[in-house]
Amino acid sequence: MYFEQDASLHHIAEKVVAIIGYGIQGKAFAANLRDSGVSVIIGNRPDDYRDAALRDGFDTRPIADAVENASVVILLIPDDAHPEVYRAEIAPHLRQSDLLILAHGFSIRFGQIELRPDVDAALLAPKMFGKPIRQHYTAGSGVPAFIDVIQDVSGQALPRTLAIAKAVGFTRYGVMPVSHVSETELDLFQEQFLTPLLIDATRIAFEILIEAGFDPAAALLDMHASGEMAEMMSEAATAGLYEVIEQQGSPTCRLGVQHYLGTLLGEDVKVKGRAILQQIRDGAFVQILKREADAGYPSLAAYRAMYQTSDLTRTHERLRAAFRSTPV
Ligand code: NDP
Repeated sequence: MYFEQDASLHHIAEKVVAIIGYGIQGKAFAANLRDSGVSVIIGNRPDDYRDAALRDGFDTRPIADAVENASVVILLIPDDAHPEVYRAEIAPHLRQSDLLILAHGFSIRFGQIELRPDVDAALLAPKMFGKPIRQHYTAGSGVPAFIDVIQDVSGQALPRTLAIAKAVGFTRYGVMPVSHVSETELDLFQEQFLTPLLIDATRIAFEILIEAGFDPAAALLDMHASGEMAEMMSEAATAGLYEVIEQQGSPTCRLGVQHYLGTLLGEDVKVKGRAILQQIRDGAFVQILKREADAGYPSLAAYRAMYQTSDLTRTHERLRAAFRSTPV
């Protein structure tokens, strides 16, 4: 694990860092790097994101121009855009021994981009979305990240990537060495198994209560929308999944939890989880993703139509409106 004392900004002193993409991650990386005294330029197409970077006071240029004028390039655009943007606007403009950093290993793990052999490449994957990365940084703390040196031409890839990790605030929490292959597979498994499981568990609880005649708004507030479950999971991230119940729950709560723990999800769920992991590792999921992308993501349109008309979404909208109209 790497912490503050393991990283030094002098490895990127006098260097210009190009952030490619000013979205969820790009905005947070750019602000934190700048506040750490690093010279940052933004590479983005001319549109709303570029305008946002300009409004935030950044030197903002076309992508190829930003790459040409930097020696560290951090690629922070969506993974499905990597192949085209890397091939046309990044690879031809990198200089020997430049450092290319990716925030997710997907493009390398699944061969979507071919690294130029004369540059350094590393993974620096935040285990958090963008807003908290910025909030923690400004509060003097940080969020965890995975690090992996993928290609080391200069012999300096690790200290240079650690310097970026320090400037963004990751070493304040801890940076864990994890191969880009594992990082990619772990991230996809979280998205494909744990996230749907949690959403479906909430939906099933909501449906049971509606069927039993409870007020949908009260049911949704209690199961999810109050944020209590989110706070509990947030506490659990530091205290521990079981310990948080011990620390925060009344005896009634603790007894209820322990009574049903281990009884609600069976071996069949594990079997499905293993199959999902297998599809990720053998590349079958990437083929599914490619077919969807080529067809314009029809499944995503169907998903949006499903949830926008669902009882749960409608109830949530009513709840949000009710709370917003209540004077605080
Ligand atoms: P976003 O969707 O927020 O990226 C938006 C940015 O990408 C905008 O600047 C947008 O500009 C640009 N962009 C989108 N499409 C293109 C394109 N075809 N060509 C050029 N620019 C494009 O991405 P994220 O910040 O979510 O993700 C960035 C990277 O970070 C990814 O590799 C992701 O896997 C990784 N990551 C993301 C996390 C997250 O919390 N979101 C967590 C950890 C890692 P415009 O469309 O205007 O050109």
